[in-house]
Amino acid sequence: MPILKLSDTIASQIAAGEVVDRPVSVVKELIENAIDAGASKIRIDIRQAGKELIRVSDNGNGIPADELELAVSRHATSKLSRTDDLFDIKTLGFRGEALASIGSVSHLTLISKPEEAETGAKLSVDGGINSSLTRIASPTGTEILVEDLFYNVPARLKFLRKDITESRHISGLVTRYAMAYPTIRWILTHNDATEFQSTGSGDRFEILQTLFGIQEAKSLMPISFKDRNVSVDGFISDLTLTRSNRKDITMFVNGRWVQDASLTASVIRAYNTMLMVGRYPAVVLFLEIPTHLVDVNVHPSKAEVRFREQDDVFSGVQRSIRRGLMAYTPVPDLASLNLWGRGNQPEVSDMQFNNDWQIVDTSSAVEHFSAGSEIQPVQQEPLPGTHLPLLRLVGQVASTYLIAEGPDGLYLIDQHAAHERVLFDQMMAQYRSSIIPSQQLVEPLPVELSPEKAGTLEENLAALVELGFDIENFGPNTFLIRSIPTIIDRGDPREAIHSVVEAFEEDETPLLTEAQARIAARVCKRMAIKGGQSLSEAEQRNLLLNLEASQCPRTCPHGRPTMIHLSAGLLERQFGRRGAR
Ligand code: ADP
Ligand code: MG
Repeated sequence: MPILKLSDTIASQIAAGEVVDRPVSVVKELIENAIDAGASKIRIDIRQAGKELIRVSDNGNGIPADELELAVSRHATSKLSRTDDLFDIKTLGFRGEALASIGSVSHLTLISKPEEAETGAKLSVDGGINSSLTRIASPTGTEILVEDLFYNVPARLKFLRKDITESRHISGLVTRYAMAYPTIRWILTHNDATEFQSTGSGDRFEILQTLFGIQEAKSLMPISFKDRNVSVDGFISDLTLTRSNRKDITMFVNGRWVQDASLTASVIRAYNTMLMVGRYPAVVLFLEIPTHLVDVNVHPSKAEVRFREQDDVFSGVQRSIRRGLMAYTPVPDLASLNLWGRGNQPEVSDMQFNNDWQIVDTSSAVEHFSAGSEIQPVQQEPLPGTHLPLLRLVGQVASTYLIAEGPDGLYLIDQHAAHERVLFDQMMAQYRSSIIPSQQLVEPLPVELSPEKAGTLEENLAALVELGFDIENFGPNTFLIRSIPTIIDRGDPREAIHSVVEAFEEDETPLLTEAQARIAARVCKRMAIKGGQSLSEAEQRNLLLNLEASQCPRTCPHGRPTMIHLSAGLLERQFGRRGAR
């Protein structure tokens, strides 16, 4: 086939595909325009999940009649004039593409009136062709109608999901924007039924309840954090509320909803070692970053952004979340575990960690782990309420648990999980300080692996060296272990290597530091004291002391609890000394 120039129609339909691929992306563009227009009220009506109709009306500053045709033409915008502006964008729109794109794949109608105009004006566009402008009475603001979306691109219609799915996306979008702009009054209707509305009171929590339900919204913790180049506000889940995917991690950057893999990853990393593998937090964050440090022009639908000071942003996100978590993380309590058959009656007072307890000196405690490719280790300030109180060892039961007494009741500690946490903290602290005491084996120890596993190990030898292993490739599929990190000297080095290889197999392209954390967690699991192993009193005491020094003593690196707390209050109630009758 010879090379032909595409007709304008096809060219604009191709371009449209980048900006609007489904009803929710139309809604997004239109509400962004309304926000940019300074509206204090935005109404969205949809029919048939937006396929039949999307109407967005606002009371913003309107479009002058003589600019309506420009508004629907490609590369026409009132938001940008010089190249410099492109790197200092303060509006949500700037590409001047949305209306033109929407107009090329639907029947589009604009009705608009600026405050100062006497009457409004109306312009329709059908599959990219403008009709003539007419005068029409209308209130100040803009109303945009999008009818029969994709009527002329039937193939795209076929890619749309069921109405219920498409409309769920739309209400998810509107609710999120409502939360980002809580002083705007929002209303969303679907087939004439109200799906969502907000009062514009400025209260984000009101909207959070719609997004998560009242119960879950209440369990989210508000956070607020300010640092050089970034401020972070929002809500984060504690360790008890988790999801099986990342979908409930919502991030706004300067009022723009972004779905950015690396930002999301930095949120997940903040929870590192505290959630079970495969579980994700629920997080809504609003980041404010000086506009000249954010490049928003990297994605057609503006869903991704780039940061000039990426490390500042990621570490700000992580620190804000860490702080929130550290301040609230509860020790699992028997009342909530419901072991004694008295019905599930979690008591807030028992769940909360008591801040008045004596706090172990933090100066010697390890800095908390924060992984990330280009992320500098986060400077950790001492955080109140995160440490264990000083515990008095009572003894070991079933060669598996330690019993200890604290200022408020009893602690049952899983020796394996606790030791895992201690080893992990020590290993990561050493890794960060780049001083990893390693110990030479009396004789190098050969390990033979399957060709596949050998390949995996070979690729990742560098990461192991940094953690204090000295391993050498010794002919086909065999490795010689010469040294191991001192802190794991009680276990079998071969087991450590096997577990490391497994860790690499599960995640093919971990970031270097993340890989190290993963290896460390794996190795520590294998090397930790097992359940069923009886410990001398000195060993028990040592374990407790080390756990007290941890900044994250309540969970093992895989997120399982290290301890159960039976508060004095709970014991009193269970024995009928107080309350329960
Ligand atoms: P962009 O938002 O990138 O500028 P659009 O195609 O979305 O491009 O809109 C083109 C122009 O139309 C905008 O720059 C703006 O001047 C005007 N416009 C669109 N929607 C509205 C609205 N709801 N209120 C006021 N002006 C609007
Ligand atoms: Mg726009």
